[in-house]
Amino acid sequence: MEYDVAIVGCGPAGLTAAIYSGRYGLKTVVFESLPSQLSTVPFIENYPGFEGSGYELLEKMKEQALKYADHVFDNVVEIKRDEKFFILKTKNSEYKAKTVIFATGGRHRELGVPGEKEFIGRGVSYCATCDGHFFRGKKVIVVGGGNTALTDAIYLKEIGCDVTVVHRRDKFRAEKALQEELFKRNIPVIWNSIVVRIEGKQKVERVILKDSVKNEEFTLDVDGVFIAVGTKPQTELAASIGVERDHMGYIKVDKKQRTNVEGVFAAGDCCDNPLKQVVTACGDGAVAANSAFEYLNL
Ligand code: NAP
Repeated sequence: MEYDVAIVGCGPAGLTAAIYSGRYGLKTVVFESLPSQLSTVPFIENYPGFEGSGYELLEKMKEQALKYADHVFDNVVEIKRDEKFFILKTKNSEYKAKTVIFATGGRHRELGVPGEKEFIGRGVSYCATCDGHFFRGKKVIVVGGGNTALTDAIYLKEIGCDVTVVHRRDKFRAEKALQEELFKRNIPVIWNSIVVRIEGKQKVERVILKDSVKNEEFTLDVDGVFIAVGTKPQTELAASIGVERDHMGYIKVDKKQRTNVEGVFAAGDCCDNPLKQVVTACGDGAVAANSAFEYLNL
C-alpha cells in the first residue's frame, strides 16, 4: 500500500487536504481514529454557506472527501522513515507514503480537580451534544468562557436543562454573537469562580466553587458538570519523527503549512496558527495539500 500523501486525522483540516490532494491526482489515504471534535459541536453559524450541527457538516465533508482518497478507520500508532517513504503503522497494517500531513486536531482539556475523573459518565462530561439529553430538566453547570462553553450552554438550555455558566474571570473570551445569545436566554453566569472539587455518592450531587475575588468557597447543588476549558493538541506522533512543536505542544508550521521535517506538513487545530476555526482548518488543509503537491512535483 503505497501512497503519495498520507493524512493523519479526519476532521475539517484532514478532509479538505484529502479533497485537494486527490484532485491534484495524488494517491491519497486518510486515517481516522477518534471522531473529530467538530462532531461534538451542537451548532455552527460561522462557516460560510452552512448552518447546522458540527456532525452534519463533518458528514458532508467526509462524503465529499472520500471520493478522492482511501479511508482507513484505524489509529496510526507509529511512524518511521526509510530512504524513500514514511511508514505508517496501524494495529494491523502498514502503509507507505511519500509525504505526511498531520491533521490530528486536539482533545478536551481537563480541570484536574478532585471528583472530575471519578464522576466521568456519572455527571461529568466534556461533550454537551453527546450527554446533554441525560440532563433534561436537571441542574447543570458549564465551566469555561470560550466559544465551546457558550455554545454548549446555549445548546443545553435549548434542550431543557437548567444551566449556569461558571467562569474564572469577569469577561468571556467567546465571540460577541454567542455572548448575546447567552444573555438573551437569561442563562445565569457565576463570574470570577473556579471549581475546587466535584462531590456526590453514586453520581454528581454538588460542586464546591471558589469566588476568587472574595476568596470564599461556596457550594452549588448540581446534577451535571460540563467542562469546556479548551483543548490540547495531539501531536505526539508528529514529534516522534522530529517535528518541532511550540511550548504548548502545537506543531510549528510556516505559511505553506510545512513543518521542519521535509515532506511533512500539518493543518488545523494541531498547528500553532493563531485562529482555530473550522474555516481556517479547511484553509490549512488546502494549503498543506498544495505544499505536498509542490514537494512531490517541483
Ligand atoms: P478556549 O477558547 O481556549 O477557551 C477556554 C476557556 O476555558 C477560557 O474561557 C478559559 O478561561 C477557560 N479555562 C481554561 N482553563 C481553565 C481552568 N483550569 N479552569 C477554569 N477555566 C478555564 O477553548 P474553546 O472554547 O474550547 O475553543 C477552542 C477553539 O475552538 C477556539 O479557537 C474557539 O474559537 C474554537 N471554537 C469555535 C467554535 C465556533 O466557531 N462555532 C465553537 C467552539 C470552539 P480564560 O478566558 O480566563 O482564559
